[in-house]
Amino acid sequence: MHWQTEGFVLREALYRENDKILTVLTRAEGKRTVAARGARRGGSPLMAAAQPFVYAHMTLFEHRGRLTLDDAEIIDSFHALRADIERLSLAAYLAELCGALAGEVADPALLNLILNACHALAHLQKPPALVKPATEFRMMSLCGFQPTVDACLACGRTPPAEPCLHLGQGGVYCAACRAGLEKGPSLALGADAWQALRHIVHGDARRLFSFALPDSALAALAAAAEAFVLTQLERGFHTLNFYKKLIPLQKS
Ligand SMILES: [Zn+2]
Repeated sequence: MHWQTEGFVLREALYRENDKILTVLTRAEGKRTVAARGARRGGSPLMAAAQPFVYAHMTLFEHRGRLTLDDAEIIDSFHALRADIERLSLAAYLAELCGALAGEVADPALLNLILNACHALAHLQKPPALVKPATEFRMMSLCGFQPTVDACLACGRTPPAEPCLHLGQGGVYCAACRAGLEKGPSLALGADAWQALRHIVHGDARRLFSFALPDSALAALAAAAEAFVLTQLERGFHTLNFYKKLIPLQKS
């Protein structure tokens, strides 16, 4: 059976001499594994599309539950990512995170989010330091890990006084309320980062990256986002380790 969908290539693995196995986030059916036969052979019509970060109209052939890419028409390859190792490696991490969270069920909001993140990095040249925490918190929120951010989990005060994020519980507390509670790591957000977190979790998806923060507040937001991902998912990401190794090199 043939079917058509838009899809974003989250990951590629080389297979046999000329093939690739792609992990594709499809609009119709969520995350699927797709064989791209001959995609590494010179002159293959699939060569340009069977690449990470490519968004394309895809014609897929399904036989006994296995998918093969028959044809692809590129919508956006986010080519500018490839000119900047920091943006490229951040996109690789966000794609890996997306792949870890996605299931085999249509999730248009998740697909739109990874596309928006690549658009912000490649076309809008938004700062990676802003795109990373916004995408992390939004993606976690879409996939069943939405933090409770509007009011202190203990006293209900909004805004919380000196807000901090409890990583394990996935919610905010006033610093004083947090001090009297059970153990588990939490990170200070500060008022500005707390406001940004509310915008990220509850705001219009199209305006996700439309905020600005002083450097110190952005650093607090970024630390909280990354620690929240790692704590909630109880795993690490090779692509994240690579990205973090790169940052000091870029700044030096
Ligand atoms: Zn409180």
